[in-house]
Amino acid sequence: MHPIRAQFDQYMVPNYAPFQVVPVQGRGAIVTDTEGKEYIDLAGGIAVSALGHCHPPLIEALTHQASSLWHVSNLMTNEPAVKLAELLCNETFAERVFFSNSGAEANEACLKLARRYAFDTYGPHKNRIIAFDNAFHGRTLFTVSVGGQPKYQEGFGPCPEGIDHVPYNDLEALTQAMGDDVCAIMVEPVQGEGGMTPATPEFLEHCRQLCNQHGALLIFDEVQSGVGRSGQLYAYQHYGVTPDILSSAKALGCGFPMGAMLTRADIAKVLTPGTHGTTSGGNPLACAVGFAAVSEISQPEFLTQVRSNTEFMHQELVAIGHRTGTFSEVRGLGLWFGCQLTSEHAGQAGAILGRALELGVMVLVAGADVIRLAPALNTDRQTLAQGLAKLEAALTM
Ligand SMILES: *Cc1c(COP(=O)(O)O)cnc(C)c1O
Repeated sequence: MHPIRAQFDQYMVPNYAPFQVVPVQGRGAIVTDTEGKEYIDLAGGIAVSALGHCHPPLIEALTHQASSLWHVSNLMTNEPAVKLAELLCNETFAERVFFSNSGAEANEACLKLARRYAFDTYGPHKNRIIAFDNAFHGRTLFTVSVGGQPKYQEGFGPCPEGIDHVPYNDLEALTQAMGDDVCAIMVEPVQGEGGMTPATPEFLEHCRQLCNQHGALLIFDEVQSGVGRSGQLYAYQHYGVTPDILSSAKALGCGFPMGAMLTRADIAKVLTPGTHGTTSGGNPLACAVGFAAVSEISQPEFLTQVRSNTEFMHQELVAIGHRTGTFSEVRGLGLWFGCQLTSEHAGQAGAILGRALELGVMVLVAGADVIRLAPALNTDRQTLAQGLAKLEAALTM
């Protein structure tokens, strides 16, 4: 075992169980470990590294800001934060932005905003939140409570109340659960951690319609689906269903920690000074990187390229599934795939991931039965093909 990996067990809280590999460098789609071994990265650090590793324009943005100003706190504003907020408003439905440091914190802000908006507008009785089975919204106590995976709540209670879960993509169950005491529906346009399941267009339209009917706010968790992953800047633009509040993180900082909550001015106005905040949210370093990332990813030509890479990769994955007999379905949205393992290979996703790593390709899982891929959006086809060839070898090992 590499000494750094051994020291992990000695010094770190055991909430993670990292592989033996210790990466030391990344360039584009290639990561190198302590032994000099190279890996093709089809995982993107869990859909974070959307522009690959050490992307020169991001290095430029970060180092330029690093020699100008690191932090002032929210007692003052700063140019990178306001510029990024303006860009996000210009590219989306949003009129106001709140910056956080992570996806969970962005979702926490979405949920608090929805509760506060209902409280101020309708009164304290309108506080119920509807969310979905298998949803993932982060690891704070509020976000694990809204998330639909009870294992993440176990032993951490008592949890916040007033949250109901219904099956995802089930229009009838949602209609049954809805009422005038609901302040928000929170939904991922594609459930990422929950198994790579895209919402049906009718389902998201139904969420929108029920929110309109009951005076509730529609929250889209786009922490994983956002910033180009879907082939549009945000997945709601693909579906043509506009939320009232949207969370973004992961690829927003392309590896620099940051998140954002996007909303309209008429909703944002309830978060008056002192109602919510975070010390490092809107940090100049993070926002300078975010601005460079969103500037590049929001270009129409860039998104066109993502969609054409998507088609290529989808075809290749379907072909691999046929040749190896290991996938029963390849699903997803944009350059973001879930390969459902056939019943003979049920439960083997983790083992396949380990073999893939040995063969020099990084992939992800989404539960025990799904291989998930989320490569950098700008990975060239040859590298994608090389990575997929290694994945195919891992499937037949
Ligand atoms: C990763 C993820 C989160 C949590 O983001 P963190 O930055 O880990 O707090 C929330 N929602 C979705 C959909 C995610 O994929």
